[in-house]
Amino acid sequence: MPTGWVGSTRRSDLPKDWPKIRAQRLMIDGHRCQHIRVDTDRLCNARATDVDHIGDRDDHRVEMLRSKCRYHHQQKDSRLAGEASGRARRAARDAAKPTHPGLLSPALKQSHDRHSRGHE
Ligand SMILES: [Zn+2]
Repeated sequence: MPTGWVGSTRRSDLPKDWPKIRAQRLMIDGHRCQHIRVDTDRLCNARATDVDHIGDRDDHRVEMLRSKCRYHHQQKDSRLAGEASGRARRAARDAAKPTHPGLLSPALKQSHDRHSRGHE
């Protein structure tokens, strides 16, 4: 009998008929993400793959759930951990953007000059 099992107990908190409740909520919401975007004030409307608790985490009634796309479900979870995490993620994404092609031309020109000189 393993005794060292530590971790999230969330799965075990869910009721036995959770898959049924979840499917019911997805059907009510038409499998569309119910997250209201702050920038447009409109529903995200992406294909919902997850169901989120809008009230207490232990309140599994259908009316206390909302369908969410994977992105917004994760976003809510990370918001609970700290409001700044979204901003940090956005900053990291911007930093990963490829260098603007225009910035490459001086280097290309340089190597071209070196190349021409080699032929003289
Ligand atoms: Zn969404």
